[in-house]
Amino acid sequence: MDDTPHAPVPTAPLDRLPWAGTSIFTVMSALATRHRAINLGQGFPDFDCDPSLQQAVTAAMRAGHNQYAAMPGVPALRERIVDKVAAVHGHRYDVEREVTVTAGATQAIMAAVVALAGPGDEVIVLEPCYDSYQPAIDLAGATAVRVPLDAARDYAVDWDRVHAAITPRSRLLIINFPHNPTGQVLDAADLAALEAIVERTGITVLSDEVYEHIVFDGRDHQGVARSPLLAARSVLVSSFGKTLHTTGWKVGYACAPAALSEMIRKVHQFMVFAVSTPMQHAIAAYLADARPWRELPAFYQRKRDRFCAALAGSRFRLLPSRGTYFVLADYSRISDAPEEAFAQQLIERHGVAAIPVSAFYREPFDNRVVRFCFAKRDETLDAAVEKLLQI
Ligand code: PMP
Ligand code: GLN
Repeated sequence: MDDTPHAPVPTAPLDRLPWAGTSIFTVMSALATRHRAINLGQGFPDFDCDPSLQQAVTAAMRAGHNQYAAMPGVPALRERIVDKVAAVHGHRYDVEREVTVTAGATQAIMAAVVALAGPGDEVIVLEPCYDSYQPAIDLAGATAVRVPLDAARDYAVDWDRVHAAITPRSRLLIINFPHNPTGQVLDAADLAALEAIVERTGITVLSDEVYEHIVFDGRDHQGVARSPLLAARSVLVSSFGKTLHTTGWKVGYACAPAALSEMIRKVHQFMVFAVSTPMQHAIAAYLADARPWRELPAFYQRKRDRFCAALAGSRFRLLPSRGTYFVLADYSRISDAPEEAFAQQLIERHGVAAIPVSAFYREPFDNRVVRFCFAKRDETLDAAVEKLLQI
């Protein structure tokens, strides 16, 4: 036996995300539960998904779909995804090589960033941004470059700033429209500006479109699959959690040109290998009918209008919500407490939970704005409004 002394094994684990704590969504939901507050914080519906979708899961299980799915996803579901994207945007991804079913959008984003960026690379994000982007970039060993959305123009994109942030080290540009938390959407001019940037710089776009079917006031969703140029240089990520009221199922997807999909699948294969088989079969069967997602804008627009109209008489000042199931509320007429403290007071003193928008920024940032989620039953929204009107 080798009896040479060895260096001691380190006892403290390496912290790959030293800045990260518990997510704001978990923190606020826990606080809401503790204080029995109405939870308009974390983004999930408080109503159930369609019973026929639930029956489709049982049917899939009874039909024996209980073992590993194909690594890139159940073929029938990939076909439905391809058909849906083609119906909405006119671009047809290749079922075999360009669509990967993932464990929600979160895993699609993680797999795509880890696959496509590495040490020395820069990844551009538009701030405020969803909380999973920075950890994905950190774990890839890349560097995040943050470009602010223009808070003075309802958080519109300043494309000149985006262009100016691109360097020879830029690998990815992550965008997310309809946008969480601001409810901002892209219009045709935005898509044209993005095309011009991609054409000039060759950067790859990671487009998080989980709210693709929740766009209001008759607008069309301007996704990357609308543009042949962008489709050829982008990873399109979405999630059935938002579209089918099933955030707990964690089924999403990534569509990308074959060369990018191949790299993403390599990571996906070793991250999860495959996603829940009966859920995939159930969603595939359910999507034979396009009505559920076609009816979504009207369904959520009615909720937005109900909530916002009722709050018009409050001391909050609501910002426009053009998509998603969120609306921002400026509370500067009520309090000058910082956002996180205000959100805490809102739960403890007034019984309503919201999300401080500062949580979507890396550096301390306070605009006196919180985010309300209106993916709730009408009774829930009305009960929350009653409390909010008293503030
Ligand atoms: N991106 C955005 C912008 C989101 O709001 C969310 C979740 N609400 C996700 C990604 C994650 O989606 P999933 O739950 O399918 O992982
Ligand atoms: N995406 C949801 C939101 O923005 C939360 C998802 C989560 O809790 N991780 O509220």
